[in-house]
Amino acid sequence: MTEARVFEVPVPDFPVTEVTVVIRGGSVVGPAGLRRADVALAGPVVVALEETIDAPAGAVVLDARGCLVGPGLVDLHTHLRQPGREEAETVESGARAAALGGYTAVVAMPNTEPAIDSAGVARDVLALGRGALAEVAVSGAITLGRAGKALAPLGELAALGVQIFTDDGAGVQDGALMRRALDYAKGFGVTLAQHCEDDCLAGGGAMHEGCWSSRLGLPGIPAAAEESMVARDIQLVRLTGAPVHFLHLSTGGSVELVRQAKREGLPVTAEAAPHHMLLTHAEVAGYDPVFKVNPPLRTESDVTAVIEGLCDGTIDAVATDHAPHAPESKDVPFDLAPPGMLGLQTALPIAWQVLSPTLGPPRIFALMSAAPAAIARLRRTDPRPAGHSAHGGPLEAGAAANICVFDPSATTVVDPSRLASRSRNTPYAGRSFTGAVRHTILRGEPVVIDAVAQR
Ligand SMILES: [Zn+2]
Repeated sequence: MTEARVFEVPVPDFPVTEVTVVIRGGSVVGPAGLRRADVALAGPVVVALEETIDAPAGAVVLDARGCLVGPGLVDLHTHLRQPGREEAETVESGARAAALGGYTAVVAMPNTEPAIDSAGVARDVLALGRGALAEVAVSGAITLGRAGKALAPLGELAALGVQIFTDDGAGVQDGALMRRALDYAKGFGVTLAQHCEDDCLAGGGAMHEGCWSSRLGLPGIPAAAEESMVARDIQLVRLTGAPVHFLHLSTGGSVELVRQAKREGLPVTAEAAPHHMLLTHAEVAGYDPVFKVNPPLRTESDVTAVIEGLCDGTIDAVATDHAPHAPESKDVPFDLAPPGMLGLQTALPIAWQVLSPTLGPPRIFALMSAAPAAIARLRRTDPRPAGHSAHGGPLEAGAAANICVFDPSATTVVDPSRLASRSRNTPYAGRSFTGAVRHTILRGEPVVIDAVAQR
């Protein structure tokens, strides 16, 4: 007779009882507030938070005096460009940029070449992510080749552990197809994420349609191109009961639509990108393609509405939309350049600078860690082939040691030549932001110490 087991406890590959890392002198960011504590890690697990912890011989001691010690950041929206555009970014270089930006997990967007629309490509990207400086989860395409015509094998990808699906770079134009995708997604327990843009209304525009597009003579993308798809998809959520995540909201109208949908109790979530919290269409005045992005930089009042949405909980997460482009591809006239800007290494300092006058550290970390981790379903360890450790905190004994140590009184100076990305298309060249990522710890390993990647 076999002995009945009451419950099973997952056993790590090797028993770690010795403290391997001590994070000393920081303020630990918890959901309710800050707590002055040293943090001890034993391998991939947080084992103690105490006022002072003596480090055993051989343990790594990380100085965190004056710093915030929070859960590692999670990016819902990273373009890693591999396979297909390795000259712009690779999984390895993108994950390095992520780690330097305080991220311990990123969700790779599926608009690669080929697109992540099959288990084969998804498996390849997941394999490339193993051993990278940040964990790499993948999102799958909603339609085959992101062409908007036929559904991708959502079930096959979901079985692999893929939790988010999107045709990002394009919205699903066909409402009936989107409705069918939502029905399937609901059955598989996964989330569809929409790049909201009506192609007909956008009409091949290059920037926001407004006073600056008229002045500069560039074709414009009206706010309505985004808002009409947000409105349509809210109707489809109401119809199907399936959740939708809205990518990179950029207009006041979109924020208000999501606010109303949430008031109604619909299962919608949303993200905003740092550049839509900081930059306006006036930046395009010099025709520099580095300011071309999709959705485009909008008006001052849209920026204000996005920040209000983040502060009042309408927008759940800050997501980078890190979109590397090799220098030669951006070295063309504005209207011909591909849209997109780098974001991983500047996101937290920008969010800090923009949001800290209104929000405290717990809320800012929640927007960049716990909330996106929940949307991507990375808060618990996933034993499937997409296996990942838990992200989003809270940092307490027993939690996974995925940690970001941020110094709010340091300064981030953006020097494009020193970014880890293979590309250089940051819109912040030469700019400074208050606050800097100091250390990043991935599964207990200090992968970034004093702003330097360790391998
Ligand atoms: Zn997009």
